[in-house]
Amino acid sequence: MELLGKSKEELRAFCVALGEPAFRGAQIYHALYSERKFDVAQITNLPAALRERLRKEARITLPEVKQQFASADGSVRYLFGLGSAEENKDFNTEFAENIASTEKGGKERASRLQKPASVEAVFMPSEGRQTICISTQAGCAVDCHFCLTAQLGLIRNLTAGEILAQVLLPLEEHKTRLAPQTNVVLMGQGEPLLNFEPVMAAVRILLDPEGMGISPKHVTLSTSGIVPGIERLAQEKVRPKLAISLNASNDEQRDALMPINKKYPLAMLIDACKEYPLRTWEHLTFEYVMLGGLNDAAEDARRVVRLLAPLKSVKVNLIPWNPGELPYRESSPERIEEFRRILVDRGVPAFVRYSRGRDVMAACGQLALLQIDGSQSPVVSLR
Ligand code: SF4
Repeated sequence: MELLGKSKEELRAFCVALGEPAFRGAQIYHALYSERKFDVAQITNLPAALRERLRKEARITLPEVKQQFASADGSVRYLFGLGSAEENKDFNTEFAENIASTEKGGKERASRLQKPASVEAVFMPSEGRQTICISTQAGCAVDCHFCLTAQLGLIRNLTAGEILAQVLLPLEEHKTRLAPQTNVVLMGQGEPLLNFEPVMAAVRILLDPEGMGISPKHVTLSTSGIVPGIERLAQEKVRPKLAISLNASNDEQRDALMPINKKYPLAMLIDACKEYPLRTWEHLTFEYVMLGGLNDAAEDARRVVRLLAPLKSVKVNLIPWNPGELPYRESSPERIEEFRRILVDRGVPAFVRYSRGRDVMAACGQLALLQIDGSQSPVVSLR
């Protein structure tokens, strides 16, 4: 039995099945997520006999840190090596078995599932806090045209344990100089709402005061606009903040940049946002990557204002494009400022978010050095 990623209830049930009292499960839960003990031998409040039994009957699988890149601004980009879906017996077996027969190109992808995958996370320290950007899938099926992760297709979904490990490992590595506040953003590779259950299992542990104890104000899930996923998230009792990757001011533009818009066009997306139950302290964040000459005109800014007008509490993050391999160019700082001014003057809070870690390809739009089929290739991901 894999322990990492399991909820308190699952660990309690596991201990009961071993003939142990249920509270032993809560002790394991606390040790894993609150104390970051990744070896059962270190969980010394468990009886020695139980530790020995767990050593034989359970495992705690951490991804391998394959590479680390430290930026001059203090950010650290991690390349994590994961096992194959095939190795992970607790997870995804149906998914792994079925895709070969049900999907176009599925045979090739099924064979990739047998191979280890890699994902990335970025640790970004700053005054009073650290922010960790994590991945929820290896590769991505969504096909945003400005994102090279899209060119990989979906390699596989990550498990809750693999998602949590991207937070636990950097926190453990930097434990002697952690700031009091930890922010987690689900903006790395993958579309979190297309891996809903494992993502929410991880989020519940992140937000549980007895688990990792991070405030819901400090965990943000970013989606390309998967409307059924937004509706499902709205039903969750425990949930992170929601950010929507907008990047366009009308359907024509968004269809060209993000084909997912054909399935969930802007009117449908905005309707789902209207229905989304915000907490008193919460606002919806819209991310808008500024692509020179493409979506950065004054008219685009005015359309964004009109688009967001039906929503109660929003803010817009304008993200300057980081030039890479893709055929887009940066907006000028003057153009970005003019865009921001138009939003702010019309009552839409807007901020320019410059990316961290540009020198190690950890910035937004540069997050990737994926390892596929055993070879490394630089790949740009946008979220
Ligand atoms: S931007 Fe995000 S949702 Fe779109 S293809 Fe890239 S990883 Fe997937």
